[in-house]
Amino acid sequence: MLPQRAYNFSPGPATLPMEVLQQVQQELLSFKNCGASIMEISHRSREFSTLAEQSIARLRRLMNIPSNYEILFMQGGATGQFSLVPMNLTVHGKADYANTGYWSDKAIQAATKLIDVNRCTPDNRTYTSISKFDQWQLSPHADYLHITPNETIHGVEFFEFPNSSEVPLVADMSSTICSRPLEVSRFGLLYAGAQKNLGPSGITLIIIRQDLLARSSSDLPRMFSYREMHAHDSMLNTPPVFAWYVLSLVLEWIEQQGGLVGMGERNAHKAALLYAAIDDSDFYHNAVAHDCRSWMNIPFSLVDTRYEADFLRLAAAEGLRNLKGHRAVGGMRASLYNAMPVAGVQALIEYMREFERRRG
Ligand code: PMP
Repeated sequence: MLPQRAYNFSPGPATLPMEVLQQVQQELLSFKNCGASIMEISHRSREFSTLAEQSIARLRRLMNIPSNYEILFMQGGATGQFSLVPMNLTVHGKADYANTGYWSDKAIQAATKLIDVNRCTPDNRTYTSISKFDQWQLSPHADYLHITPNETIHGVEFFEFPNSSEVPLVADMSSTICSRPLEVSRFGLLYAGAQKNLGPSGITLIIIRQDLLARSSSDLPRMFSYREMHAHDSMLNTPPVFAWYVLSLVLEWIEQQGGLVGMGERNAHKAALLYAAIDDSDFYHNAVAHDCRSWMNIPFSLVDTRYEADFLRLAAAEGLRNLKGHRAVGGMRASLYNAMPVAGVQALIEYMREFERRRG
């Protein structure tokens, strides 16, 4: 009998597609009949090299990545990239950073240890909106402009990107990667921890324009250098083989679901359902401006906060798990990543209506 699976609204590590988990289970003891699991064979083996090559080709196809971009896989998560981006991309020791929420603030704190950071966005401590791009104060000799297109905690998402033809646009895509089509050529560098839309934690995706690879100084420790990583096909040392394998299955799954166009349509639909349920009620509230409400992470509160603990406890009993908001914001948060089915969102809405009927 299959164990009962809950609808898992965790912000990350997050729910994975059922089909992927089942394939992992099937192949666990003997990967492609090689007599061992993928975790137990060399990353230099034919089996793993084929998997790595295919996953890179698939990602290129899925995201329509132009040929002048390279794909790297590294360890250390998106947090590692907060430091590696300034280490590798700096030329003049100065970069612009948009501060739009908790995670962009973390990126700023890490970069500040290494370079001069110009917080180019107007002060905005509530993080419920994104200021108009013409209010951003960009510095004349910035090495790059860093943005966080989806703020996982505050639930704020960019649906347009600043035009930065003069300096490369760098984006922490951790919680929005592959959720909808993206024009990669607008960016100089994209990075994302895998554990939301791409697979398990432990592997980090970097997509970098070729001219920026050359910026990495040869003085950097090899493990921290984009140029070195690229020169060694992301296998300067033993890569996280299991995470890479699951990521490759997730990419295959996304392709089978209609690629990023299919994902985008489904994600827009799921988010619209939940925002409508919140907005139609006087019992629930979402504070984010309508033009930047995240499709991936939807924070909401109960107008009467006394009921929040009950809301979470009873939700969990109904198989609706991990809805507690981040401690920085409080309340609830539903993360609706690619692998969350529409039925999960519908079950949540039904539960919210029933809870409101009883307590409202
Ligand atoms: N950036 C964003 C937008 C995130 O959501 C997260 C994790 N929740 C991080 C960075 C940190 O990622 P990691 O744990 O992979 O370092």
